[in-house]
Amino acid sequence: MQPKNNILHLPVYQPGKPVEDVKRELGLTEVTKLASNENPHGCSEQAKAAIMEELNQTNIYPDGASIELAAALANHLNVKPEQLIFGTGSSEIILMLARAFLVAGDETIMADETFPQYKHNAEIENARIIEVPLKDGKHDLPAMLAKVTERTKIIWICNPNNPTGTIVTKDELTSFLQQVPSHVLVVLDEAYCELVTDPAFPNGIELLSSYRNLIVLRTFSKVYGLAALRIGYGVGDPDVLRFINQVREPFNTTRIAQAAAKAAVSDQAFIQHVVEQNAAGIAYFAAQFDRLGLAYYPAHGNFIMVDVLRPSTEVFNALLRKGFIIRSRWTYYPTYIRVSVGTKQQNEQFIAALEQVLQEVAVQS
Ligand SMILES: *Cc1c(COP(=O)(O)O)cnc(C)c1O
Repeated sequence: MQPKNNILHLPVYQPGKPVEDVKRELGLTEVTKLASNENPHGCSEQAKAAIMEELNQTNIYPDGASIELAAALANHLNVKPEQLIFGTGSSEIILMLARAFLVAGDETIMADETFPQYKHNAEIENARIIEVPLKDGKHDLPAMLAKVTERTKIIWICNPNNPTGTIVTKDELTSFLQQVPSHVLVVLDEAYCELVTDPAFPNGIELLSSYRNLIVLRTFSKVYGLAALRIGYGVGDPDVLRFINQVREPFNTTRIAQAAAKAAVSDQAFIQHVVEQNAAGIAYFAAQFDRLGLAYYPAHGNFIMVDVLRPSTEVFNALLRKGFIIRSRWTYYPTYIRVSVGTKQQNEQFIAALEQVLQEVAVQS
């Protein structure tokens, strides 16, 4: 048996260690995971009620086109239902975009430190990956534009960027979009957009009417707190969405996820609460890192990337021994860690643990 040559080098995704394993291996009674940008406040009570209600219909296939959810979400976003497509997380939309648009030899442009699924899926399709270095942790849009050729098919922009948390502004993005040739699809991944409070942040959906080659990706996994149910969406031109629908599995999202997402959209009071708590958490981390003399990137999502001035793997292991799981090991950021905003108590306990770890681990010379 011989699989596609271009997947032979790909790693199998290694999820963060489950909390239960860490507890057992290190003999800890409490372990806090601040590693996956999950919502520490759970989800809307209305979403929970919708999930319970839907349990009576598990024998029935879902509506493949998610008509009811599309209607509710279109109303909330002020778009037409035919501008929406749903996936098992926005990760699946990324997969479907690569599947529908990329063949061997096509070029695709992305930042050198960003959400890994763009590169992963493009590699499966044997596309040529063009990685452009971040500049001060931010997408360098002029440099990305300079890499466009007639073979370029997709440019990926993650705003705010995961893992750095930085944003490109509305001015930067519109200037970029004005110059991108119309044969290039621009994928704007806005997984954390609901959490952004900076007025310079662009709302990708408002730009759709001017740029038919733009598609915006969003998710119910982060601010909506429905990561376990796997549902996300794309907003774009119906002609572009048709190509994605052609490669979409007929029943890709579940009844339970659709029902929960629909109810979650109608409970914007919960979202407001999460946004406020998150902003307070980011402000707390920033103040504490200032106090500790640690530099960090301006954080616009529900996570913050900080330079701990020490080998990040050592800091990761030392934090793990104190019961905190975070993210580290980025190729170009060997002394940075990324920590997700937790509850107020988790954030305070994390800073106390980090302060001890900074004493224990020697500064990188
Ligand atoms: C979390 C995340 C996603 C999507 O996650 P799903 O759970 O698949 O919807 C997409 N892009 C970025 C940048 C993310 O951080």
